[in-house]
Amino acid sequence: MDVMKPFFEQQPLRFGCTGCGRCCIAGNDYFVYLGSEDAGRIRGYLGLSVDWFRRRYLGKTADGDPVLAYHADGRCVFLQNDNSCRIYPVRPVQCRTYPFWPEVTNSKTAWQRESRRCEGINRGPGIPVTTIRRILNACHVNSG
Ligand code: SF4
Ligand code: SF4
Repeated sequence: MDVMKPFFEQQPLRFGCTGCGRCCIAGNDYFVYLGSEDAGRIRGYLGLSVDWFRRRYLGKTADGDPVLAYHADGRCVFLQNDNSCRIYPVRPVQCRTYPFWPEVTNSKTAWQRESRRCEGINRGPGIPVTTIRRILNACHVNSG
């Protein structure tokens, strides 16, 4: 094993989303953070004013960062009863890139730990390294 390579290049990471919806449930310091362009895309898709969007769909972390609101049981405000996403075409970058986040793909321990939340991890086909790199880059641009 080449220890100089990032974890996701050392072995194929398998992933196949089952649509279980667990990654859309907040709590225990897990939030859906909004990147610089996420809110505008969602507002445009839903045809909402800035004020209405903020009042109805936004929350804040203890540090004041904007996050998507969620119900008392932790379900994202956009998660529908059938576990589909009401804003799927314009869902935040954090959602589109999951589970290929830097902090999840950087070590086997982190990847295995995340598999306790996401049942799609370690199922399905191996994801090409080029695809994972592209997704990681999208995460980086979003948080930059
Ligand atoms: S925006 Fe959609 S994909 Fe993202 S957490 Fe909410 S329901 Fe899930
Ligand atoms: S937790 Fe994983 S398997 Fe479930 S909906 Fe989210 S990405 Fe898909």
